[in-house]
Amino acid sequence: FDQLEGEIWYNGEFVPWKDAKLHVLSHGLHYASSVFEGERAYGGEIFKLREHTERLHKSAELLGFEIPYSVEEIDDACNELLQRQGFEDAYVRPIAWRGSEMMGVSAQQNRINLAIAIWQWPSYFKPEERLKGIRLDMAKYRRPDPRTIPSESKAAGLYMICTLSKHEAESKGYADALMLDWRGRVAEATGANVFFVKDGVIHTPTPDCFLDGITRRTVIDLARKRGYEIVERAIMPEEMEEFEECFLTGTAAEVTPVSEIGPYTFTVGEITTNLVNDYTKAVQPVREAA
Ligand code: PMP
Repeated sequence: FDQLEGEIWYNGEFVPWKDAKLHVLSHGLHYASSVFEGERAYGGEIFKLREHTERLHKSAELLGFEIPYSVEEIDDACNELLQRQGFEDAYVRPIAWRGSEMMGVSAQQNRINLAIAIWQWPSYFKPEERLKGIRLDMAKYRRPDPRTIPSESKAAGLYMICTLSKHEAESKGYADALMLDWRGRVAEATGANVFFVKDGVIHTPTPDCFLDGITRRTVIDLARKRGYEIVERAIMPEEMEEFEECFLTGTAAEVTPVSEIGPYTFTVGEITTNLVNDYTKAVQPVREAA
């Protein structure tokens, strides 16, 4: 990935992709003082760019640092980079981290760096599996108590558990893993939120210790527009026995149907299919008729 073509926006400059490097003594690497975003561009426009950039700022604040570029400057940088890369449909990854000026847990004086990379990433899960429903493992590790970590932040440190869970799932032939929270409630997948359907009603866990995804909120709005009832509540894993449909939402995952979670099975039903289609339409830029 470090050998792709094109440019990376790095602390205000466009640098050749292969030259966008940092020092091995970066605080972000040693102590996980790093926050990032995942965005998608459709038809040359970054979907919900402002919301993502605002979340990036907030994620940094929750880790005690301030990104030295305003929300407007970051939005402009993302848009300019998308144009320079020449992509219509792409994935956008801004990342901010504490630099290498001082070594140790304390890093008050370290520079806050910001980089943005944009690449083509058509499908998060294998396209042939995606619409038939993907299979999820039940993860061994749980999402932590929000009193132990700022879980509202899209912080790199929170992804250690996700990578462990995803790797274990993949080694068993699953596409992804479903994690419970520290109380044993259903939480989320390793890079996406989860929804269930039963008797025409949509159920999704209350995001009180994991990311309240921008896609999650978009899909809740789309479901309400269709007149579907949505309940946000605590969901216990045993309830999955009774749920009929299941899907994931995330910027990379978009709306992905799920056919299996551990011992529980689901069908790709009408509600899931309608929301896959509604989301596909919603992300396309609105163009004035010529
Ligand atoms: N949970 C986790 C752990 C994620 O990484 C993501 C992807 N950012 C999400 C949920 C969904 O968030 P969003 O819809 O904002 O992409």
